[in-house]
Amino acid sequence: MAEAQRIGAASTGAEGAYPEAKAATMKMQTKVAHVKGKAPAHWADLDPQERRARIQELGYPAFRADQLSRHYFEHHSIDPSSMTDLPSSMAEDIRTHIFPPLLEKVTDLWADEGRTLKSVWRAVDGALIETVLMQYPDRTTLCVSSQSGCGMACPFCATGQAGLTRNLSGGEIAEQVRLAMVCAQSGKLAGGSTRVSNVVFMGMGEPLANWKNVRSALHRIIEPAPSGFGISARGVTVSTVGMVPLINKLADEGFPVRLAISLHAPDDELRDRLIPLNARFKVDQILDAARDYFRKTGRRVSVEYALIKDINDHRWRAQLLADKLNARGRGWVHVNPIPLNPTPGSIWTASSAKVQDTFVQTLRLAGITTTIRDTRGSDIDGACGQLAYDMPVRSARSQHAVQAVEDYLRAQKVAHPNMRAAWAKFVSPASERRHDQDQHVAYRYSYSDSHSEPAS
Ligand code: SAH
Repeated sequence: MAEAQRIGAASTGAEGAYPEAKAATMKMQTKVAHVKGKAPAHWADLDPQERRARIQELGYPAFRADQLSRHYFEHHSIDPSSMTDLPSSMAEDIRTHIFPPLLEKVTDLWADEGRTLKSVWRAVDGALIETVLMQYPDRTTLCVSSQSGCGMACPFCATGQAGLTRNLSGGEIAEQVRLAMVCAQSGKLAGGSTRVSNVVFMGMGEPLANWKNVRSALHRIIEPAPSGFGISARGVTVSTVGMVPLINKLADEGFPVRLAISLHAPDDELRDRLIPLNARFKVDQILDAARDYFRKTGRRVSVEYALIKDINDHRWRAQLLADKLNARGRGWVHVNPIPLNPTPGSIWTASSAKVQDTFVQTLRLAGITTTIRDTRGSDIDGACGQLAYDMPVRSARSQHAVQAVEDYLRAQKVAHPNMRAAWAKFVSPASERRHDQDQHVAYRYSYSDSHSEPAS
């Protein structure tokens, strides 16, 4: 224990070296829900040099570090009894100081005939997170969480409505990957034994608000064994609401991961209301940073756009988006419209198929590659914006954000047919705010037929 104290728990704070981001993060993440604790220090928090120092501090020769790393990153094992090349006298230190358990399984939920698995995990301090594992014919993708909850308070997202619990450590993010690799390899998914080939930071949390630990986890995910898991950077996606200074940091990091921008509106007037962080970083600044990301990395950027009925799905907004993207060059970006997934007590619904088609066609006619996002797992609340296990309480920030959008709509006199009913539902007690299962099922059938091409 003294050892663990000396090394200290993994850092879970916002990155102190980036004051702009820290200021933005502190401003946004005022709501702390449930518990607030720290992850125990873990081998996967460390780079290879730090691991050699760590093993020597524990009283073992430096060469043991690579052996341990191979067990973790290559064989995905934390069980000392399987490590026959190590003396059995190390077992206790391995269990408590090197690979302490970080995540305990709470529950598994299956969908898509056994090809999608949402898992809920509990960290040692009780913080809850979720992962979604999705098997496709050509790849297996893991959606990881970077935070427990989220401080960004976007009013259409279940995670944002729950508020932030805490940042995850680099080790906790790496553990999500290791556990998914064990699961995929075991043959539990319907398509048989497989390898996790893609990792997307699209689970709970805003990854760039936890930059230091996400950066460390990216190194662990991408670097080859024994340093890391050796997943190709081209298969890794970081999705952000638009933290401009950290998009620049990510670009400078030098690994060609894919960047996804959650834009959802091409104009600041609406985006100010849909994404509270837009108060800090405006649409044009974000698109400039995204364009710069392409220039520096050569990776085409994805723009994510949740289509919300009567809110952001207008033809003129598709045209404005196309104009803003084309003004920054050709071939550097593609757009992923996402039919809005239902969230508990949601005021909003997905756009109709006709409106969605018009939106997509407008972008395509303007020369922008556009692919509707496949929304896997929406019947188990595993799809985009639905990850908020046991977190039914809206944060005060999110309530204000919802109110702001409604005020805007009233001012604009935009027809919103179900507003009264939806509003009544929203203000009803948490216990009564449950998913409307019928609406949910109807939603799935209306979208599962035609638009199924997944985004990679
Ligand atoms: N905070 C990061 C990572 C979350 S990724 C980000 O915002 O990019 C989850 C993606 O799903 C984001 O693009 C998010 O805006 C989108 N999303 C959130 N709620 C949604 C909903 N109800 N339906 C569809 N997409 C949603």
